[in-house]
Amino acid sequence: MSGEVEPNVTMKYMNRFGCIGDACEENCCLDGWRIDVDKAHYEKLMAMAQFSGKPIARRFKSTFIILPPKKKKDPERYLLKQLDGGGCSLFNEGWCDLHGTFGYEALPHVCAFYPRKLKYVGEQMELSATGSCPEVTRQIILHDDGVDLEPIDFSRVYRKVLQDGMDPRDTRPFFRTFVQVRDYVMKILRDESLAWDERQFLMLWFAKRTTEVLSKKNVDPDTSLVEREMAILDKPAVRAEIVKRYAALETPAALVPMIVRGIVRPKTKGIQRPNWNKLTGDVIASYERLREMLPTSDDPDEHDRAADVAARQPVPVSTLEVYLEYKRRRDRLYAVPAVKRRIDGFFRNYSLHTWFHRMPIEEQDIMTYTLRTLAQQCSMKFLLNSQLHLQDFVTAWEKADDEARPAAEAALVDAVEKAAVSVFYQLARHVEHGMLIKWLADMLRKMDMFSAAGGVYLIHF
Ligand code: SF4
Repeated sequence: MSGEVEPNVTMKYMNRFGCIGDACEENCCLDGWRIDVDKAHYEKLMAMAQFSGKPIARRFKSTFIILPPKKKKDPERYLLKQLDGGGCSLFNEGWCDLHGTFGYEALPHVCAFYPRKLKYVGEQMELSATGSCPEVTRQIILHDDGVDLEPIDFSRVYRKVLQDGMDPRDTRPFFRTFVQVRDYVMKILRDESLAWDERQFLMLWFAKRTTEVLSKKNVDPDTSLVEREMAILDKPAVRAEIVKRYAALETPAALVPMIVRGIVRPKTKGIQRPNWNKLTGDVIASYERLREMLPTSDDPDEHDRAADVAARQPVPVSTLEVYLEYKRRRDRLYAVPAVKRRIDGFFRNYSLHTWFHRMPIEEQDIMTYTLRTLAQQCSMKFLLNSQLHLQDFVTAWEKADDEARPAAEAALVDAVEKAAVSVFYQLARHVEHGMLIKWLADMLRKMDMFSAAGGVYLIHF
């Protein structure tokens, strides 16, 4: 079983995943996310603390914030206290004191289940995990078979916590056909007879042609257009024609400031992430004229104003210089066949995982879902391909003689893998709970790039 989605299904990486605890490069408990504790576990913990020695009882009783209900009929809410710099107050040298003191059963659902997501899709359960966990990302992108489908190994799921899934009562076409459509797109993305870019073009084409039907606004039950598009797209001659049409479009340089302004920059407000700020700070510093494109504040209105101004102006020299330099670095990396193959593989697995983990019906329509996914990956490409230390590995590979080349290639691929894991999980963590991808989408919209042509630029980037 590796193509079709069957009952109670997951991807291979999920049956291999386990938290690596104190070996983790950026522990989730320290990220500063709000930790909502479910009522049952709050009460259980209070009862256990009551019967413990005084220091333990005091520690656990003082670790919760109780929020009064907003409205009369709402329940109370229980939050775990955070440390000043962000991070759970029960975290202790790589491990959890609550787990250590009272055992796994005492962990609130959110702590016991992260990074996993278990949801009903129609009649079946599907298990996946968020790429904001570095170990999950490693398992997804570094193994060719990581996103093959297989039955859930429930012996590894110690607690079944169900999250929002698909409401089977919703009969709008987008909801009714979502599983069939998702499986179809995943089939295209798995088609090894096509180059990776070509598979993405076909996904974009399909989204564009069907988005009026596959939209939350549409209540017309007729889905024949979707079935027709699937049948047409299955014809090799049609596929070849579409791919040829898209291959000719060249990405405009103005995409760079959009990505940088929207996402790829250090964070100045709210939870601080030193790793993210170092990653983006180093990339920005590596381009001579990139800093001048950064926004001066995190205010969404300022982004809108800047996007308006940018849309009306010709491309400035600095933008062009940065874009050409980005292309130079990217093309040097991609010129090493083993590296191109590897990077395409990362994005293949990441895309397939996205379609499985994040339901398209979370967006307004299928085109918005597709473009947002491509916009996120475009930011990842910029962060990965820009890294200067990878250029040094390419230089070493170019200079190596026949005897030294295999070792130089292995070192280069290893460096690319490490950099990709870091970029992929950090970007997922950075955008997961915020509006950043939406900002980027809004800016692209203002530049007339949130469209099929814009999607092509994102693929080519
Ligand atoms: S981010 Fe993942 S590997 Fe790291 S501590 Fe959390 S669950 Fe474990």
